[in-house]
Amino acid sequence: MLAVALAAAVVVSGRGQAPAQPTTTTSTVWTVISTDGRRPMATTPSNGREMVTTDELGRVFGVEFREDPLTRGLSLTVQGKTIVISPTTGLASIGGRVVTLSTPPVRGERGWSLPMDVVDRALALVYQPRLDVRPATHLIVVGDTRVPRVQVRLENQPRLARVHFDVTPATPHTVVVEPGRIIVRFDATALDLELAAAGAPDLVLALRALPNTTAVAIDEGPRYGTYRVVEGAEGPTHRTTVELIAAETPATGQPAPATPGLPGQPTPGQPAPPGTPAPETKPVLGPEAPSIHTVVIDPGHGGDVDVEGVRGPGARGPAGTFEKHVTLTIARMLKSALEARLGVRALLTREDDRTVYLDERAAFANNNKADLFISLHLNASVSQKPSGAEVFFLSLDGYSPEARRVAQMEGAVLPSATGGDRTIEMMLWEMAQLQHLEQSAVVAGLVEQTLRSRVKMSPRAIQQAPFRVLVGANMPAVLVEVGFISNPDEEKLLGTHAYQLRLVDALVDAVGRYRTQLQSRRSAAPGPAPAAAPSTPPPAPRTP
Ligand SMILES: [Zn+2]
Repeated sequence: MLAVALAAAVVVSGRGQAPAQPTTTTSTVWTVISTDGRRPMATTPSNGREMVTTDELGRVFGVEFREDPLTRGLSLTVQGKTIVISPTTGLASIGGRVVTLSTPPVRGERGWSLPMDVVDRALALVYQPRLDVRPATHLIVVGDTRVPRVQVRLENQPRLARVHFDVTPATPHTVVVEPGRIIVRFDATALDLELAAAGAPDLVLALRALPNTTAVAIDEGPRYGTYRVVEGAEGPTHRTTVELIAAETPATGQPAPATPGLPGQPTPGQPAPPGTPAPETKPVLGPEAPSIHTVVIDPGHGGDVDVEGVRGPGARGPAGTFEKHVTLTIARMLKSALEARLGVRALLTREDDRTVYLDERAAFANNNKADLFISLHLNASVSQKPSGAEVFFLSLDGYSPEARRVAQMEGAVLPSATGGDRTIEMMLWEMAQLQHLEQSAVVAGLVEQTLRSRVKMSPRAIQQAPFRVLVGANMPAVLVEVGFISNPDEEKLLGTHAYQLRLVDALVDAVGRYRTQLQSRRSAAPGPAPAAAPSTPPPAPRTP
């Protein structure tokens, strides 16, 4: 960590800020932020202590100072309350309470100076609204002003740079792309910002606080190609990671590096200490062998209430079969089959008949570092005629009206990514799937092949559609409409164990083939094979 800066204020940072016994040899300017704006407050060193003059306290906080000839004390009056300080011991008395300052007051040429901790230890006890002193960034926040702590750190990897924003408390933010830079903007009054030194000049030229804003700019380096945003789990500290990915370079005789978007493995190593946010980021490039360790299966629908425009029970067949029950049955069978036959970890976004929001489904897969996401549904049409399975992957554009109808049935449809002057300013976790579309298409193709050899396919076997449930998935993801529940014959079939087994067989087969494809890339790639991941690590806790 290098510079300490405020988004909109110049802060000259002091050195050697130890919280317990601060010693300093330099003048420091603190920034006091309130709803009225910001004011600088200067401190000066005296015998290694950071001191503030009574004049300065008067100017910034309206403190009135006088020497009391009777008690020989120094008295500070603020907002009608008086603090009496002993000039010899540094003891301060506030309405009967006594606190100790780190050092006694000092009389200089220009009057009395008090140790800086007078603000935190004495003034804060009487001052309204509340004072929040933040020594690390020389900031004093007055009242309920929203000044989140934002720690920005750069992690450099081969062909990939991650810029982590750890934000306390979690604060709404947007990521906007401008020519040459990516801007993360926070909805706050000011930022209590700590910027790490940039260390990946190929991809990140600089990290900068934008003056007079609450935004941080990531200046793109010469090798920058594309980016994505990964949002961490909810908690008191929220982590947003912007990943900058190097542009493809022309072949130089070396085997091509893995394509961005290939599923990575969870990074091996020590578990994060308790209380640290669990980032959802995972390597998309680099030497880790791509494979399939975790598959998240998403049984469509669930519960009895309709949420986000999605029917809780899903579609209903003419004989009364509910989509939500069939998808759960198939999902459970698929989980057992994947675990038994491929040895992968398989997790369900719901284990029973209950409501799960669309965004929770993708978030669950992200939090569990899934390598593949399969959402299961049953199709329905107003006509009883259509039948057969259909496989979908995400598109924000270029889909048919029929595909749009299916997406509408399965949840909110996403806005088009192009057209007009629409800024890509949506909360960018939504776009996680965009990095994986190529691989999602590969998976969709394999699922279509393996289904076709076992069950009847619809004339539109593979399609793209703007599914909300897929867009947040940070891994290859497909949605399978395994058949038309609105077709009486197919409704009957879909309810039989034999037909369900055929569907499950096809899906396991597709996952197996996809894994083989990934691993054959690995054997073509140079470098030692990494140790195998544990076959069935316990699932990570679900975020609410
Ligand atoms: Zn559905």
